[in-house]
Amino acid sequence: MIDLRSDTVTRPTRKMREAMATAEVGDDVYGDDPTVNSLQAYAAERLGFESALFTTTGTQANLLAIMSHCGRGDEYLCGQAAHNYRYEGGGAAVLGSVQPQPIENNPDGSINLDKARAAIKPDDFHYAMTRLLSLENTIGGKVLSLDYQHQARVFCDENQLQLHLDGARVFNAAVKSNCDVTEITKHYDSVSVCLSKGLGAPVGSLLLGSKAFIERATRLRKMVGGGMRQAGILAAAGRIALEQGPLRLHEDHENAEYLSAGLAEMSQMEIDPAKTQTNIVYARCRAGQAMALRDYLTDQGILITAGDPIRFVTHLDVSRANVDQLLDAIRQFYQS
Ligand SMILES: *Cc1c(COP(=O)(O)O)cnc(C)c1O
Repeated sequence: MIDLRSDTVTRPTRKMREAMATAEVGDDVYGDDPTVNSLQAYAAERLGFESALFTTTGTQANLLAIMSHCGRGDEYLCGQAAHNYRYEGGGAAVLGSVQPQPIENNPDGSINLDKARAAIKPDDFHYAMTRLLSLENTIGGKVLSLDYQHQARVFCDENQLQLHLDGARVFNAAVKSNCDVTEITKHYDSVSVCLSKGLGAPVGSLLLGSKAFIERATRLRKMVGGGMRQAGILAAAGRIALEQGPLRLHEDHENAEYLSAGLAEMSQMEIDPAKTQTNIVYARCRAGQAMALRDYLTDQGILITAGDPIRFVTHLDVSRANVDQLLDAIRQFYQS
């Protein structure tokens, strides 16, 4: 199968499986797992923070971040399209009693900071207390500019807000911005990163922040059932993902660009290839045949997400030859 539904579908490499099999482990709830401790120390240093916490998922890392920054009755500002608003089961509201205040995202994925300023609640007992701005980079495959992220930092300092980054794909953003990841993460009080997407780990994410912030997050992680025991088995793969994964993300971006150019040559597809910035490609079938195309491709052993638009995600298990197979199959679909 060629699976372009998401970059979460990557399988651990042989090297990862070997590292998992031989990982030194201990009980991480006691802080005794050397492989987890070493991953967390390495991640903190790599992303420029005091501390890091290994979490089960990106959803959990975002939940812990929002709950560590905000208490009951507080509020966080986020994009209307934010993963931690739309796709995380409303966890911050359900489990943290933290109210989201979504703001329409600009086409480039940013949040207009004047709109954010206008959404900050006055200091008046009628309102929730606005504590946090949460951004996402990449968002829908799009990269926030370094300049915008600097402005967001200044905005948060001016308004006594904390600034969180949902950086599930922050390494894709760093590759596209042609900078070290710390040029992005330095603007934030906390960052979540998925090891289990394009970086290739089977399971796991990281949350980064100050020592005191990570201590709060560790308590909350236990509370939501995320205290794992011999988690070094997973952290061993995570370490390889974090060290090696970023080095090859540019290949995924090149494959996405190549796919976009190929789709743009088909009159039946609607796509602006200039909008493909990283490893996610969006396109529409002009005749609204997305479901039929999906079913046809599934029969050919190719999996895609057939929404409106259709989404194709490139990752380490999708080669250039696979992209050619996909393009051929789409052409056949339209000829048949
Ligand atoms: C995938 C993703 C998450 C959540 O990660 P899971 O590990 O699937 O829970 C959070 N934010 C963004 C932007 C994501 O793409």
